[in-house]
Amino acid sequence: MRSVVCQNAELDVVERPEPTPASGQVRLEVLRCGICGSDLHARHGIDDWADLAEQAGYDRFGRSTEEVVFGHEFSGRVAEYGPGCEQELPTGTPVVALPLIRAAGGIDTIGFSAHAPGAYAEQMLAQESLMVPVPNALAPDGAALTEPMAVAWHAVRRGEVGKKQVAVVIGCGPIGLGVILMLKAKGVRTVVASDFSAGRRELARACGADVVVDPAEESPYSAVVESGHLENLPDALELAVGTREKLGRLPVGWWHVWRVAEKLGAAPKHPVVFECVGLPGVIESIVDSAPLFSRVVVAGVCVGPDRFRPAMAVNKEIDLRFVFGYTPLEFRDALHMLAEGDVDPRPLITGQVGLDGVEAAFAALGEPEQHAKVLIDPQRTGGL
Ligand SMILES: [Zn+2]
Repeated sequence: MRSVVCQNAELDVVERPEPTPASGQVRLEVLRCGICGSDLHARHGIDDWADLAEQAGYDRFGRSTEEVVFGHEFSGRVAEYGPGCEQELPTGTPVVALPLIRAAGGIDTIGFSAHAPGAYAEQMLAQESLMVPVPNALAPDGAALTEPMAVAWHAVRRGEVGKKQVAVVIGCGPIGLGVILMLKAKGVRTVVASDFSAGRRELARACGADVVVDPAEESPYSAVVESGHLENLPDALELAVGTREKLGRLPVGWWHVWRVAEKLGAAPKHPVVFECVGLPGVIESIVDSAPLFSRVVVAGVCVGPDRFRPAMAVNKEIDLRFVFGYTPLEFRDALHMLAEGDVDPRPLITGQVGLDGVEAAFAALGEPEQHAKVLIDPQRTGGL
């Protein structure tokens, strides 16, 4: 079978033997595979990630000198079961699966380890227990977006955004666009999207962003007037002192009223900001510019060291959260949201290529203007 192998930052289409499923594993015929920003980074920077993973206790992450087959955002068809499988789904059933697989050395990350080749190939192995059948005749294109949409869904859930809260999405690459889609699916009324690229702002609009700004021209934090957010320290001090004075005029102890109000969830209004860029300096710019009490969900993956001034975050009581991956439930729910039409990922898909077109697609995706998500169809030939 054909697959795209990355070694020493080179991408080559090579013939490899068809994989044989071990116990609990299943061989899938790959129908579509998304090219992820992580793949682009891994091509040149996989060793940095391997070092990080090793520090976190996982020493089987791919190295640049090894043969790694990328591809962790896939949809496929059940082709063959290994021994000991439940075999609940007949051969040929369209499925997606979490990109993790059990091996003798532990659990491997599909698409980022030489031990677990990914879906830049005609065939691949997946874990039967992590496989989910594609419902509602959802097309393979949409199904392949389950993984990135699960990432977005997890970020949105970690953001705990209320429907009446303002959500601000910084960066409209595939993660940012997925977050916009999921925020709208969740019923969040006001979604502000910010990106320097005009092409990506256009995609953000297509994904349902209510307000779209070019941060070179306008602050995404002041794009919504009458948001009720606290823009500066004097406003916060005024709120504290003013509220104390107002409650002091009541016939009951102000502290009783304050306590009840707190219990009922009264708190300063604040936006939830999604960092979907992952470049050095972005967290600092958010901490410096976001309103007081903002909740910041960091979904962008900045691999190198970064800096920000904690005292600024302290002064504004910024609530900084980091997100990683998703749970099997979030993965399953993302698939069903796609299949039931709660989210329409079509604006995200900007191109399709064959395995021989992967190299060209990587080059095109390096430019933010034109493309968001490019899907590989192993049965097709040619570039974008
Ligand atoms: Zn990804």
